Amino acid sequence: MEEEIKSLNFIEQIIEKDLSEGKNEKRVHTRFPPEPNGYLHIGHAKSICLNGGLAKKYNGKFNLRFDDTNPETEEEEYVKSIRNDVQWLGFQWDNEFCASDYFDQLYEYAVQLIKADKAFVCSLTSEQTSEYRGNTMIPGKNSPDRDRSIEENLDLFNRMKNGEFPDGKYTLRAKIDMASQNMHFRDPAMYRIRKKHHWRTGNKWNIYPMYDYAHGVSDAIEGITHSVCTLEFEVHRPLYEWFNNTIATKYRPQQIEMSRLNITYTVMSKRKLMQLVNEKHVSGWDDPRMPTISGLRRRGYTPEAIRDFCERVGISKRENLIDVSLLEFSIREDLNKKAPRVMGVLNPLKVVITNYPDDQIEELEAINNPEKPEDGSRMVPFSKEIYIEQEDFQEVPAKKWFRLAPGTEVRLRYAYFITCQEIIKDASGKITELHCTYDPASRGGNSPDGRKVKGTIHWVSATKGIPAEVRLYDRLFTAETPDKGDVDFKELINPNSLQVIKSILEPSLAEAKAGETFQFERMGYFCVDKESSAQNLVFNRTVTLKDGWAKQAEKN
Ligand code: ATP
Ligand code: MG
Repeated sequence: MEEEIKSLNFIEQIIEKDLSEGKNEKRVHTRFPPEPNGYLHIGHAKSICLNGGLAKKYNGKFNLRFDDTNPETEEEEYVKSIRNDVQWLGFQWDNEFCASDYFDQLYEYAVQLIKADKAFVCSLTSEQTSEYRGNTMIPGKNSPDRDRSIEENLDLFNRMKNGEFPDGKYTLRAKIDMASQNMHFRDPAMYRIRKKHHWRTGNKWNIYPMYDYAHGVSDAIEGITHSVCTLEFEVHRPLYEWFNNTIATKYRPQQIEMSRLNITYTVMSKRKLMQLVNEKHVSGWDDPRMPTISGLRRRGYTPEAIRDFCERVGISKRENLIDVSLLEFSIREDLNKKAPRVMGVLNPLKVVITNYPDDQIEELEAINNPEKPEDGSRMVPFSKEIYIEQEDFQEVPAKKWFRLAPGTEVRLRYAYFITCQEIIKDASGKITELHCTYDPASRGGNSPDGRKVKGTIHWVSATKGIPAEVRLYDRLFTAETPDKGDVDFKELINPNSLQVIKSILEPSLAEAKAGETFQFERMGYFCVDKESSAQNLVFNRTVTLKDGWAKQAEKN
């Protein structure tokens, strides 16, 4: 059997080295730690594929941990959507935890740090705190509270917990080094007062731990071995290690940073995606133009395509920008194998076949998927009046135009050869229908006498075809990097990112169910939308096929 030889990415190299040295009792334990403050996006998919994939590959464990340290922004709706998206992507976690599971433990550790004179209660306001912190050129100044006695710190911290003080009155800070070159070492905050209801702990807590403190300690509590995060946390790593080393946790996870996934014509931050939703620039988190996992799913993306994309993007330490066409490549590859072929005319132009018997309907055989012969064939009705695509006809044909034009003959896929005889126009000069003749001897689309036609076009019976609403999507933004310039990213929204048209589809699609995906021959991949019903079929265009004519036109 042929085995694919792939070089290890840098994280796999670290893991294999650790395993060979017997580190972490030869365990591999990863986690995916989303903050439940929005829906997951394709950047999160990269993290899930990596962390879930490493656990699978090294026979390890994979935790899902909700980072719910911020009571203001977290909602259960997001928790449910996150679970659903991770599973849909094909990953099952071994344990589900929440940072809030550790609030008691984190509090105990904080008390332990106070007792060791490694933490103190500070009364500086947030403005004063940043003033005292200094900057990379100027060393910070010690807080006037830094030498508060351990007893007093313990008392104040306890009273902070008990809700005796208003928000902002005190913080608990680690006592490290106000002159450190690493700004994160300048007595970072560990706890803040927030008298807020928490989705899991209710009103029990009046203080909540800060990310830098809670995250690394949560990793240690769970016995995580390799804690993968994005590059901006590289400068936090010494602090991540300081907490676990100073507390002397049993496990000492290793933080490893990788670059974020950025994609062209896309914004990739929950905060910005939330603005698009709240300000109704899109219909919701699962709007098919959104880079969310739920949006991509509704658009017709498959888990296989997203995993393939994440694999192709790879893991690196360098910031990069991935072309959105790579994502489209991955879904085309997958749907080409899977999606049944059907015929649908997006922008219909009526064709009357003048020499075809008036009331005759013929059932003609059409292949379901040339990539999968085992999928067999279906029957498609043909009639005197049919629709073809408006763009498949040119009154004055361009050079190398192989499709329909006055006097030319084309093949109707699986049906007949037809020749255009006459153009019918309305008073304004708009073409309303074409009159064509057909060659009865070309049934099935086969040449009766060896004569060749250059073009093959798709069609739908006007008598038997069914109407459908089709939603065509384009990039949501007009700029390659909408959130990197001087302009507000919302001003760069593409006004034509959604186009809704009335189309005619072959009748076999009448029963299509939400989520099912098809290739409309020559037009692209389309997926039945969740708003679709038998009375009002709705399809989303997942992605176009490569447009051979556009490429040809470019060459000329
Ligand atoms: P956002 O800015 O979109 O809110 P985040 O990093 O704040 O992203 P979290 O919920 O904290 O979102 O992220 C959960 C995990 O997903 C983290 O480990 C984070 O590193 C990872 N992650 C988030 N965005 C990306 C991205 N664009 N590429 C790779 N990993 C990402
Ligand atoms: Mg975040």
